[in-house]
Amino acid sequence: MDCIFCKIVSGSIPSRKVLETVRSLAFLDAFPLVKGHVLVIPKTHCVKIQEMTQQDNADLFETVRIMAERVERLGPSSLVAVHNGKESGQEVQHVHVHVIPRSKEDGAGPVHSMFTKRPKMSDAEFAKVLDILK
Ligand code: AMP
Ligand code: ZN
Repeated sequence: MDCIFCKIVSGSIPSRKVLETVRSLAFLDAFPLVKGHVLVIPKTHCVKIQEMTQQDNADLFETVRIMAERVERLGPSSLVAVHNGKESGQEVQHVHVHVIPRSKEDGAGPVHSMFTKRPKMSDAEFAKVLDILK
């Protein structure tokens, strides 16, 4: 499979590894948004998080938890983010969690600033959405 992150897992392309478990790998993003920008990936190829096994998910999130603590050596807080599918901005089609040190001076706004067309929802519309998601 022609997946750049699978190649990082197999070692056929290099990466700056931070932490490795049996199921997950954390490494430095090669084009960091901030110094200390880390990606955490499952070793098994999946495009979206809902395709992962519970075990892989649990291991991935535990690695994310550890990395969030460590990246905060470089900033007072952190952003943890997943583009879960192409349409949401996912460029590499292998699950990856961005763990990025954040500070007031980094020039990035809150994730809410991405959405300029927010819906105004009636109670009926909230109820419809609840029906879909329950
Ligand atoms: P996304 O836009 O959420 O799919 O994020 C993909 C991320 O992968 C980007 O932040 C890229 O900078 C990063 N990236 C792409 N290729 C590599 C690579 N070979 N090593 C490390 N990070 C990479
Ligand atoms: Zn892959």
